[in-house]
Parts: sequence; C-alpha cells; structure tokens
Amino acid sequence: MITANARATFGPGEPFQATTIDRRDLGPRDVLIEIKYCGICHSDIHTARGEWGAVNYPLVPGHEITGIVAEVGSEVTKFAVGDRVGVGCMVDSCRECENCRKGEEQYCLKGNTLTYAAVDKYGQYTQGGYSTHIVVDEDFVLRIPEGLELDVAAPLLCAGITTYSPLRHWEAGPGKKVAIVGLGGLGHMAVKLAHAMGAEVTVLSQSLKKKDDGLRLGADHYYATSDPETFKKLTGTFDLIVNTVSAKIDIDAYLSLLSLDGTLVNVGAPAEPLSLNVFSILHQRRSFAGSTIGGIRETQEMLDFCAKHHIGAEIEVISADKIDEAYARVLASDVRYRFVIDISTMRTV
Ligand code: NAP
Ligand code: ZN
Ligand code: ZN
Repeated sequence: MITANARATFGPGEPFQATTIDRRDLGPRDVLIEIKYCGICHSDIHTARGEWGAVNYPLVPGHEITGIVAEVGSEVTKFAVGDRVGVGCMVDSCRECENCRKGEEQYCLKGNTLTYAAVDKYGQYTQGGYSTHIVVDEDFVLRIPEGLELDVAAPLLCAGITTYSPLRHWEAGPGKKVAIVGLGGLGHMAVKLAHAMGAEVTVLSQSLKKKDDGLRLGADHYYATSDPETFKKLTGTFDLIVNTVSAKIDIDAYLSLLSLDGTLVNVGAPAEPLSLNVFSILHQRRSFAGSTIGGIRETQEMLDFCAKHHIGAEIEVISADKIDEAYARVLASDVRYRFVIDISTMRTV
C-alpha cells in the first residue's frame, strides 16, 4: 500500500482537511503518478456537496490531474519513469462492450470507473487528484505533449475534453457559428478550442464583465444574457450552442437562437431537471443534445491539438489550504478561469 497525502471533505459543504489515503500496490499494468497539479472542476463541487446524490465521505475529489510517472508495473509498455502524464475523469471501463471497443469508454455500457466517488474493480472506493499520488492502469493515463506546461494542462483533462468532444462531434469549424453559454472553466476552454477549429465564436455570459477576456481568448462576439435584447437580436443565428452553465437556465430561450438543423448541446450538469417546450425543437428542426467528457483516444487527440495550437487553460494556481475559498469563488462565478491546486503544497500533512 502506498500512502498519499490528500485533502478531503468529510460531509456535504464541510471544509477540506488534510488527511492520508491508501493507494493500491502497483499491479503489472499500473502506473504510479506523483501528482503535480490538479484543477478544480465544478463537478467536484456538485459531488462534494452531495448535489448529484449521496457519496461516501471522506471524499477526495479531483479529475484534472497532471504529474510525473514515479514507478511502473512489470508489464507497462506505454510509460516510463519520468514521463509527463495526466489523468482525467475515468480510471477504468469494461473495455469489452461495443462503446469501449469504439474508444468511447465514457459511454461504457457496463459503466466506467470514475476517478473519484466510484467503486473500482478491486472493490475500493476511488479517490481523486487532491492528493500527492495516484495509481492508474496505463490504458487510462494520458501523455502530456512537450510544450504544454503541467499547470495549464491540468484543466484540459476535464474542461478541455468535455468541450472538445462535442465541438468535434457537431463539426465546429470554418463557416460554423458557435455560441458558448457561460464563461467559466468549461466555457473558456470551449472558446479557445472552437476558435482554433476555425468557427465564428460568440460568448453568451450573464454580464459583460468578462468581455475583454472573452475576446482575447478568441471570441468574435460577446453578449450579456441579462439583456433581453440579446435574445431578440440573435434569434435563429447559431449552428451549434454549447451550454456549460452549472445551474438551471431557460432552455427554450437558448433553443430560439439556433438556425435550421442547429443543435444545443448541454454539457453543464445542474442537479435540477431542465425542461423545454417541444415547439422549441419542432421549429427549425432543432436538436437538444448532451455530451459527457470524451474517450481516452479522443482525450489524447485533444491534448495533441492543444499543444499544436499552444492552448492551455487560463489558471489561478492556489495552495492546498485555499480549496474552500476557491469553491466559494467558483460558486459565485468569480473564477478566471480555472483554479489549479499546486500539489507540492500538500507534501506535508
Ligand atoms: P464554472 O467554472 O463554475 O462555470 C460555469 C459558468 O456558468 C459560470 O462561470 C457562469 O458563467 C455561468 N453560470 C453560473 N451560474 C449561472 C446561472 N445561475 N445562470 C446563468 N449562468 C450561470 O463551472 P465548470 O467547471 O465550467 O462546469 C460547468 C458545468 O459543467 C457544471 O455543472 C459541471 O458539473 C459540468 N461538467 C460537465 C461535464 C460533462 O462531462 N458533461 C464535465 C465537466 C463539468 P458567466 O459568468 O459567464 O455567465
Ligand atoms: Zn470535471
Ligand atoms: Zn465498456
């Protein structure tokens, strides 16, 4: 057993505390990673607060992990000690079902194993990246390309792939008008990625407070959704809208912004159900869709795309004792644009 230092929450809304967790001994195909950075995703907050359902405590969240390989199992072929690597939202899947065979492990028909708050095939409760070390099967470890620093790369492992995958699936590119709703962790990555893919990008944010940032990140247009004129002016405009909002919003209002055959894809995951008026999709043959993270192959493709286009996350690096503060700021939409924990500040408990 390997003992890792970690930060855990002991109940819904409880502050994070220093603790230790056990990581399994390396199996033949396992990789031991010394974690350097871990991003704070809004999903960590939904989970830690029990908003998506009951979870076991103590809980160590974190699925935007980058670090260095410290040890490899006897049969590991893809990685060596010293490699720069990442781990995202999944650490295992069945590998046999139709979807796993297609490389869509995020949609594993038997259910994949999430990086935290899940039970793995060893019967152990998984704990995430707010910790100094993690042991992961090599098939679920990503390579961080040269040219991408480990701190700005960490948020790519969730925020990056969660936006890259639907942008690719719905073919964001030249000639396509793409709107991104919400300029937070996912939203700012979506803007950078859609811009790099060649789409015409519009940000739909609650206010114009972050307009300069949005345009600098690659948006062509920026509107405040608090202004009713925005919805009148943009009716029927977009081929694709990616909704990254963590709260319930008026889906009908956003569907009205789609052009013929346009799609509104929801990646935001609020605890409350979203509703829509069916006439909103009958008109203009519109689609309302969802998407979750991406497969391992596509995640590597996204990392390579980011390295090629010099895309990293905009981050604010924090020490391990600032997690509660960071959560409060994310909840207040006061994040520019991802908090990333410097795990070296966790080396001593
Ligand atoms: P985040 O950094 O908090 O960004 C969310 C943004 O939504 C905020 O910055 C804000 O942007 C906007 N927003 C927040 N509350 C709002 C409200 N009441 N009305 C309108 N807009 C609001 O969160 P994140 O980490 O990007 O995650 C966003 C959501 O995606 C979360 O629900 C998360 O769980 C989910 N998620 C899903 C997946 C997946 O696989 N599908 C993966 C990761 C995360 P503005 O200030 O610009 O309006
Ligand atoms: Zn996430
Ligand atoms: Zn499967």
